[in-house]
Amino acid sequence: EIDPNSDAAIAARVDPRPIEEIGAKLGVPVDALFRYGHYKAKIALDFARRAEVRADGKLILVTAINPTPAGEGKTTTTIGLGDALARAGKKVAIALREPSLGPVFGSKGGATGGGHSQIIPMQDINLHFTGDFHAISAAHNLLAAAIDNHVYWGNALDIDTRRINWRRVVDLNDRALRSVVVGLGGPANGFSREDGFDITVASEVMAIFCLARSLNDLEERLGRMVVAQTRARQPVTASQLKITGSMTALLRDAFQPNLVQTLEGTPAFVHGGPFANIAHGCNSVIATRTALGLADYVVTEAGFGADLGAEKFLDIKCRQAGLAPSAVVIVATVRALKMHGGVAQKDLGPENVEAVQRGAGNLVRHIENMKAFGVPVVVAINRFTSDTPSEIAAIEAACAAVDASVHLCSHWADGSAGAVALAEEVVSLTQQASNFSPLYESGLPLVQKIETIARRIYRAGGVSIEPGALKKLSEFEAMGYGDLPICMAKTQYSFSADPTRRGTPEDFILPIRDVRLSAGAGFVVALCGEVMTMPGLPSHPAAENIFVDETGFIGGLS
Ligand code: ADP
Ligand code: MG
Repeated sequence: EIDPNSDAAIAARVDPRPIEEIGAKLGVPVDALFRYGHYKAKIALDFARRAEVRADGKLILVTAINPTPAGEGKTTTTIGLGDALARAGKKVAIALREPSLGPVFGSKGGATGGGHSQIIPMQDINLHFTGDFHAISAAHNLLAAAIDNHVYWGNALDIDTRRINWRRVVDLNDRALRSVVVGLGGPANGFSREDGFDITVASEVMAIFCLARSLNDLEERLGRMVVAQTRARQPVTASQLKITGSMTALLRDAFQPNLVQTLEGTPAFVHGGPFANIAHGCNSVIATRTALGLADYVVTEAGFGADLGAEKFLDIKCRQAGLAPSAVVIVATVRALKMHGGVAQKDLGPENVEAVQRGAGNLVRHIENMKAFGVPVVVAINRFTSDTPSEIAAIEAACAAVDASVHLCSHWADGSAGAVALAEEVVSLTQQASNFSPLYESGLPLVQKIETIARRIYRAGGVSIEPGALKKLSEFEAMGYGDLPICMAKTQYSFSADPTRRGTPEDFILPIRDVRLSAGAGFVVALCGEVMTMPGLPSHPAAENIFVDETGFIGGLS
């Protein structure tokens, strides 16, 4: 039985427009579209390159309060706002990440929005799509094979096999692969050593794919990746293994941005999908810049809450890609603010205005933080059917108290009609002057960059960096990487490093357990705790609900 209110069923009732028509809305000629069936296409790289140099549209970032299990709806709101701008007659494009199969089959589900704000074909986008993640996995694993092969054939680089940090990847949640031994079975199979798998979206290749400006830049960045150390503890880079040409060849087609559409026919670029913890968590620079070159308004999403996702979007992606957002939309929900106000998930049903008032402190901090970047801010309340008028009024009052505009949105239920007021506000905000500047200067020492993020964004009382991590930071500076921005790997559930501290934690010391150099991506990762680079599946994964009927319709994806 197919639930008629499920995302898949809602999507199935819409007749998609041929992808040529969607391209035409942005002035993309048919010969610049590489079609994957009727409803998906890649934009030819030479056309994308000509578009991206004049990336002069208005960039609108959608971010959110700290996530809770109650759900926020950033992707859904990005799509709803894009559709509402299109409804208002604007030339608009959406820019989103590609879903990873890990969450699709795990607990989160798909990443194509929900209700009446979705991108389609949702089954294709959530599953293999145009094969980009397979290409990224292949490029990553080719390098892994080349490292072991180098050691096998004499190890001229003197790689210390105990200090190879380049693992294998697969785009699934598979905890059994976290730690493995490779090279077993005798001399013909190489030298056995401990290894492990990460999920593809955690690969540095993915982060690079999403930050590179051109194929040349892509290859140069791949070459800069540090994959191991020698016996003398010197870094070994991918370029020394001489296969970055092959990796780039594997990635060439994938690097072209993908074009799809929303349920209402708004063009959507869906390209790349790095993790938001050990990487920066937003779609590719090439897609965002191409969209900005073709549309007047581009709505994009950053992963997790604004403390992590938006901070990295602004300090890493915008800085590297020469982008400046014209407005930031912060998504909040009554349910999530109740949880920030101390209510347990099972008790979210009854009205609880006081909890919303308490929890709104989380939203207010994010508003202040985003304003500190010099960008106009608006709050979108993503309405759930269970929300009561008094609870919504409590959010509106909290926003009014800090002089932030706020709009109640029902795009999940109503499509573009539910986000008309938000779209009007966004258009007027983008007409104001935006004085965007990153949080910190590139020249600041790495330790001070970490402290700046911790104190100004997280409101930590201080930072405590493990001695080993401190030593590595000074080594990175000595190697010439001191100008890189910081990529914080912290829980998304709290401003602090403790996921149970919802709301507005204060007086905490942010622990930095370890740091890693992502020389190709161009950032230094600061790890505030255990960071999962290969998630596991829950006891009842979403994979148990997905089915295919006689006609080939795939249901159970949400
Ligand atoms: P995020 O991008 O913040 O992770 P999504 O937009 O992917 O969130 O939404 C997460 C889930 O919540 C999706 O399954 C979506 O359909 C659902 N959802 C979003 N907004 C609403 C809403 N207003 N009412 C009910 N469900 C919603
Ligand atoms: Mg999302």
